[in-house]
Amino acid sequence: MTQNLSEFSADVVVIGGGHAGVEAAAASARAGARTVLLTHSFDTVGAMSCNPAIGGIGKGHLVREIDALGGIMGEAADRGGIQFRLLNRRKGPAVRGPRTQADRKLYKAAVQEMVRAQAGLEIVEGDAFDLSFGAGNRVEAVILEDGRRIRCGAVVITTGTFLNGLIHIGSVKIPAGRVGEKPSLGLSATLARLGLRLGRLKTGTPARLDGRTIDWASLDKQGPDDEPYAFSYLTTRIDNPQIDCGITRTTDETHRIIRENLHRSALYGGEIEGVGPRYCPSIEDKIVKFGDRDGHQVFLEPEGLDDDTVYPNGLSTSLPEDVQEAFLRSLPGLEQVRILKAGYAIEYDHVDPRELTRSLEVSKAPGLFLAGQINGTTGYEEAGAQGLLAGLNAARRASGAEPVVIGRGDAYLGVMVDDLTRTGVTEPYRMFTSRAEFRLSLRADNADRRLTPLGLEWGLVDARRAEVFSKSEAALGEARRLLEGATITTAEAARKGLAVNQDGRTRSAWTLLSNTDTTLDMLIPVWPELASIQDTVRERIEIEAAYDVYLERQRRDQIRLKREEERSIPADLDFDTLKGLSNEIRHKLRERRPATVAEAERIDGMTPAALAIILVALRKFD
Ligand code: FAD
Repeated sequence: MTQNLSEFSADVVVIGGGHAGVEAAAASARAGARTVLLTHSFDTVGAMSCNPAIGGIGKGHLVREIDALGGIMGEAADRGGIQFRLLNRRKGPAVRGPRTQADRKLYKAAVQEMVRAQAGLEIVEGDAFDLSFGAGNRVEAVILEDGRRIRCGAVVITTGTFLNGLIHIGSVKIPAGRVGEKPSLGLSATLARLGLRLGRLKTGTPARLDGRTIDWASLDKQGPDDEPYAFSYLTTRIDNPQIDCGITRTTDETHRIIRENLHRSALYGGEIEGVGPRYCPSIEDKIVKFGDRDGHQVFLEPEGLDDDTVYPNGLSTSLPEDVQEAFLRSLPGLEQVRILKAGYAIEYDHVDPRELTRSLEVSKAPGLFLAGQINGTTGYEEAGAQGLLAGLNAARRASGAEPVVIGRGDAYLGVMVDDLTRTGVTEPYRMFTSRAEFRLSLRADNADRRLTPLGLEWGLVDARRAEVFSKSEAALGEARRLLEGATITTAEAARKGLAVNQDGRTRSAWTLLSNTDTTLDMLIPVWPELASIQDTVRERIEIEAAYDVYLERQRRDQIRLKREEERSIPADLDFDTLKGLSNEIRHKLRERRPATVAEAERIDGMTPAALAIILVALRKFD
């Protein structure tokens, strides 16, 4: 760790050692740049500010993508995971989301170890206060609060909730980036000086509870999957013991206490101006906006294997501590509960992500990149994925190489960056599978096939991962060759008990496997050679076969859409004359004046039906 520098230089400086920062710093170093990770304290690197969990639907896809590009989060989650569950298991593989609860300490230790082990990466503790710019606003150096200076070719800012952070607990306000940590005050002014549009957002966290004061025996439990689904393609085994969570519900009494004290909530007392995450609302929000008929479910998640702290998932709040204690004690199982740390809401500055290019570079300041919560997103996974792309591009910028972008058809990361930079945010942005139009091909299982070749090309993937990938590609290729080479007539298939249409056509085992009711195990008695397909790729080849037919259709749709996307929309097209558009879409079209179909498509709230109306109108101009 470098500490006593007054003047120091690096190719890339990453400011902030949160989830975006560590991925940015590691990706930059992997791509060959001499990189400095400048953060307040190395001890908080890998800290989870809120829930002790990684992944979920959409978010789990992002973690697999980070891993496929050689990032940190997937391996750290596997090393810290204490309750692995594949969400949506009964739905199609495209929307299955890996998730694990994490032991905070194990997760953090894993991240810190990987950061320390990264060649070409130096850690500096300190507070970034300002940046200096050269000709054409090209970033030249980072200036620390204590006067130190780091000259550099590119900078990535990943300051999370710290920019002008202000914590609210009831009417108490504390300037902070997270509880107990000072806010970042200088950089907002730097960004405003560049002429960037800044906004104010908020998020919140629940109280942390003493697990020894919870009546676990009276609660329902949620257990882990029997077979953990790992995040990293490099993980061969999960060693941690797996634990259960408790489940409880809010009661009429909980709702009464919260309603009666709403005026004391920072959220409802008019103390907070920032907009909060719609999909991660506070308990006050849930009760006011969504009612209280059957109560709201609450998961009681232990924060570690040797830690009595419990995270009550679903109870984020900005009520005063006495009210928090009163409402918590009204939930079954929590009658005697003791609060270890009060819940709070935090407001912070963010930059309008429309100020960025799709490589996450600030358009007005070459060499300056932003990633994570600062761009209006929420969540560790969203932050990590952006960090990786920004770090890679900062390294490329510093070495004079062209920045790279990732397409919507390639990755959820591409979908997120495209959404952010084209439509901006009106509330904290989090990932969902419904945001991806090509989700049949953007699956958690095939993130390596989509991205590892790109990672190799960009210098992000090390030899160990390259070898794992090439072995898995060879095994998948061989499996497909065997399946396509094994054929059967319909009559023979029927004789052998395989369900096929009696249309007289000869089919391959690959085609038979594309029927989701058919498994490899059902085909092996007919073609014993299929038993040689490696265990590691069995499930993957079943999924690939099942999706093959849809993917072909999706590829055709993609090509058609690409053609249409390039169409320009004449400046004199009067959207008010188009029948069938909703007022909201009409208003947004008038305001944004998209120049192409692609731009119209990216307007938040745009629907396929509205797009069809625009396309019909454009035909009149042909
Ligand atoms: P962070 O993880 O916040 O990391 C920022 C890092 O930058 C820190 O290490 C900090 O020390 C460092 N830093 C800041 N300024 C400077 C500076 N000037 N110089 C040097 N270092 C600096 N996400 C959800 O998905 N769901 C939730 O319910 C949720 N609730 C949250 C509740 C709270 C109270 C908080 C604080 C966050 C919550 N989050 C939630 C968000 C989640 O924690 C973040 O999305 C994620 O951590 C963002 O990662 P990041 O890397 O952008 O920033």
